[in-house]
Amino acid sequence: MEKVVIIGTGCAGLTAALYTGRANLTPLVLTGRQPGGLLTTTSIVENFPGFPEGVDGYELMTRLQKQAERFGARIQFGILEGVDLSQRPFTLTIDGEKVQTQTLIIATGAGHRHLGLESEHQLENKGVTYCATCDGALPMFRNQPLVVVGGGDSACEEALYLTRFGSVVYLIHRRDSLRASKIMSDRVLAHAKIKPVWDSVVTEVLDVKQDKVTGVRVKNLKTNAESVVDCSGVFVAIGHVPNTDVFKDAIDRDEAGYIVPRKGAATNIPGVFVAGDCADRIYRQAITAAGMGCAAAIEAERFLESLNQ
Ligand code: NAP
Repeated sequence: MEKVVIIGTGCAGLTAALYTGRANLTPLVLTGRQPGGLLTTTSIVENFPGFPEGVDGYELMTRLQKQAERFGARIQFGILEGVDLSQRPFTLTIDGEKVQTQTLIIATGAGHRHLGLESEHQLENKGVTYCATCDGALPMFRNQPLVVVGGGDSACEEALYLTRFGSVVYLIHRRDSLRASKIMSDRVLAHAKIKPVWDSVVTEVLDVKQDKVTGVRVKNLKTNAESVVDCSGVFVAIGHVPNTDVFKDAIDRDEAGYIVPRKGAATNIPGVFVAGDCADRIYRQAITAAGMGCAAAIEAERFLESLNQ
């Protein structure tokens, strides 16, 4: 019987592992499909406090894992296939094996929604990125034309952020009005450096042959006209997909699949806590995920203490 099982080894999961480890709870920490989480897919992380020169995302997560292991966290490579949260101890199915635990911390993160283009996939991290805050300041994007895809608050936020670095920012959206909040839309549309490209979808990211981004092929959905927008970077901001399918029907989620936190890190099920991007549709930063992981760990520890009293 486990005292704490943590699902996910991104910033949220590993911070929860560090704190529950230091509380002598020897947590079992399951990696899931992406050990180290989304940060391992970015290059230099410049906004994690304490690293004035920036830190490689993979290195940061490796260090965090080592730190958690130093205090007794047990990292296990594996996939969570099923959960029974209807009674305590909870039962988890991990790679076909049943594991029982008194508390559970869900830190499964979220993935960026992709356009689904082969060229997008091939040029990922070679000019195609999903996070302006993480990658926008890289030298390859400085004083270059950039493209943001999407029409929601995320796309607007990315576009505004990128105006600091790019020479011009093309905002390519599939409709002729933004989904974003009025304040964000107004800011974007008033910005001299942002050029909206309406009613249009990206059909190809160029240029796979050169192994770097040189532009995007765009199709106007109203006229079917095709054109090429030259750019050095493509920032895809068409929403996120929380990794919570395995908890479907087992826990309260909102209509987009995010787990709904109640009172801090608690969920609707006593003994189950949540942290990071699988419950956060607003901030989605490494440091906020780490903070939520810390909170979830403290809550799990208190819950276990309350069982003993
Ligand atoms: P979102 O609101 O769902 O917007 C996604 C955008 O991407 C939409 O404009 C959508 O087009 C477009 N899109 C979706 N799939 C696409 C595809 N396959 N190809 C091309 N375009 C596609 O997602 P979000 O912008 O990430 O925002 C999510 C939530 O977080 C929202 O509630 C938002 O308000 C909130 N948020 C808030 C802030 C803030 O307040 N500062 C910042 C970021 C996010 P359609 O419009 O045609 O559907």
